[in-house]
Amino acid sequence: MARVYNFSAGPSMLPEEVLKTAAAEMLEFGESGQSVMEMSHRSKEYQAIFDETEANLREIMNIPDNYEVLFLQGGASTQFAMLPLNLMTKNGKADFIITGQWANKAYKEAARYGAAREVASSKDKTFSYIPKTTAADFDPEADYVHICMNNTIYGTKYNTLPDTGDVPLVADISSCILSEPIDVTKFGVLYAGAQKNVAPAGVTIVIIRKDLIGNAMDITPTMLNYVTHAENGSMFNTPPCYAIYIAGLTFKWIKKMGGLEAMKELNEKKAKLLYDFLDNSKLFKGTVVAEDRSLMNVPFITGNEELDAKFVAEAKKAGFVNLKGHRSVGGMRASIYNAMPIEGVEKLVEFMKKFEEENA
Ligand SMILES: *Cc1c(COP(=O)(O)O)cnc(C)c1O
Repeated sequence: MARVYNFSAGPSMLPEEVLKTAAAEMLEFGESGQSVMEMSHRSKEYQAIFDETEANLREIMNIPDNYEVLFLQGGASTQFAMLPLNLMTKNGKADFIITGQWANKAYKEAARYGAAREVASSKDKTFSYIPKTTAADFDPEADYVHICMNNTIYGTKYNTLPDTGDVPLVADISSCILSEPIDVTKFGVLYAGAQKNVAPAGVTIVIIRKDLIGNAMDITPTMLNYVTHAENGSMFNTPPCYAIYIAGLTFKWIKKMGGLEAMKELNEKKAKLLYDFLDNSKLFKGTVVAEDRSLMNVPFITGNEELDAKFVAEAKKAGFVNLKGHRSVGGMRASIYNAMPIEGVEKLVEFMKKFEEENA
């Protein structure tokens, strides 16, 4: 068996230890005589897995008691509709900062249910930076302000949160959840699809301040109402049981690694290796302004499309896969989520150096 270094933006690498535990427990979890996949979600065994998973997430992220943690289906994309249906209900308005495709999708979907307003955008420069805003830019009557914290496609990240005054801040953290500590109390809602940094696709984590639950529009489908899931411990219907179990294994792995401070340190080290190389390379260059660079997604180009394609193909042969940039931007992108070992980044940089010598 030869595992590759997988730089996919998502679904992406999972920690090898998590996969090994899942493999060892595949046929029988504990003394249950069954796989987690086969368990009733109403069973004592499964409830214990679920409760431990939620407790560990609360501990790792330091989530206060006045926040509900929900494990839902439908991906981050379903939140683009759930958020306006549930939150855009006091004044029927919400503000959006457009930092890429995901932020734009959230904005477009919200516009179907109320007065969604674009406050700022970085579209003018292919989303290569985070636009600056001040409190005065936001409508104090907006029901919420939406941002995408880490822009998976373009490789930018909020390093300073926008000041939204008393308006609840809602953030899509799909591609940066658990990559570093985050002050949950600064947000009304945080949400993330699992397939970047947590688990296989299928579970979506929503962390929502309790006072924001319970004001949904009348037209809200039962399954899209946060109340439904909050009142039923995320078990109104069958939850994505197996993905939640894998998320639980990832949370245990993060605890063992030393928690989010340790993850941050490791992620900064990994990202620095790559950015330092890009900053000094004569062939490759990063596409994002230095102060807004992501720790998780690193896009770069040679400036020559043929050379980009050659690099991606040769990298693949050498065991570095999924380095092709998003179809909307081209070039390359290395996604270096929590599960990417530092050796993977070191070896990628070595390979890039060699490619540069041969092709510059
Ligand atoms: C991947 C991604 C999404 C889409 O997630 P789905 O679970 O596929 O709906 C949304 N936002 C961000 C920031 C992402 O990285």
